[in-house]
Amino acid sequence: MSSRIRITRSTGTHDENITRLKAALAEADAVVIGAGAGLSTSAGFVYSGERFEKYFADFEELYGFHDMYTGGFHVMQLAPEVTWAYWSRMIYINRYMNLPKPVYEKLYELVKDKDYFVLTTNVDHCFQRAGFDKKRLFYTQGDYGLWQCSKPCHQKTYDNEETVREMLLAQGFAFGEDGTLEVPEDGSLRVQVDGSLEMPADGQLKMPAGGQLNTSAGGPLKMEVPSELIPRCPVCGEPMSMNLRSDATFVEDEGWHQAAARYDNFLRTRAGKMLFLELGVGYNTPGIIKFSFWQMTDRDPDATYVCINYGEASCPEQISKRSICLDGDIGEILDELG
Ligand SMILES: [Zn+2]
Repeated sequence: MSSRIRITRSTGTHDENITRLKAALAEADAVVIGAGAGLSTSAGFVYSGERFEKYFADFEELYGFHDMYTGGFHVMQLAPEVTWAYWSRMIYINRYMNLPKPVYEKLYELVKDKDYFVLTTNVDHCFQRAGFDKKRLFYTQGDYGLWQCSKPCHQKTYDNEETVREMLLAQGFAFGEDGTLEVPEDGSLRVQVDGSLEMPADGQLKMPAGGQLNTSAGGPLKMEVPSELIPRCPVCGEPMSMNLRSDATFVEDEGWHQAAARYDNFLRTRAGKMLFLELGVGYNTPGIIKFSFWQMTDRDPDATYVCINYGEASCPEQISKRSICLDGDIGEILDELG
């Protein structure tokens, strides 16, 4: 692909694109799915609004952030008991709770009888939960369900579900029969201030003179976990961290390397009509999926590139005749294909 890439959004009308995509799916010998954050957003994994308010209103009130993503960074500077109270909520609702909308399931129905492989930057494990074969998945950026040594002193990851559940119980949460994290009816995600002072109804937290913020007493829900639940590396004793690729400490464990090798093998051994199906990939880390899909499509005259994206459906002009760009909600577009 030439160094100057001209981008286009136009590969036909919406209906033409849907018709072409149906045909391309039917004819494809192999489908490579590349999925980014937009796919989980379409499935209802939203980091702000109602989902945030339900489980993080106390953190919002005290620290002033308004979405889970921003909060994740903010709480890193706090006491580990508080950091892990926050992270346990975030991990659980994004990794272990059911998905609000069945978008991943629809996608699975569409490709389950095809020879497929999934490359994703998402860390919420939704593909496997929706039925995708784990031998056909490569999570490049980690998994909310795994911890690692924060140094890291060794290249291994650890399942966190049990400890995360303990952390949530210790804060006063409960679990519904279907695994939904529940705020107890008498629970209140409000910060209480020591003494008789209450939070003003309109919001702004004010520290009383000589007062102490008490985030662990008052309501039945706590904003901290007991110190003994803070995860530590079983080898060196340093704190554990999330197995997320945020910097150079990211641990690529044995499972990661096996998945990487399987993906590489899939690309090398499949022939015929390849369909590169890109879903909800933005421009944060375009090198992992988007640019590589463009290049592979460019090199293979029988390949088709598909970009389904809310607001950013585009492709290089150079491959536009073999591309299908669909702008819209991924779940709705998958409905049109089914
Ligand atoms: Zn260690």
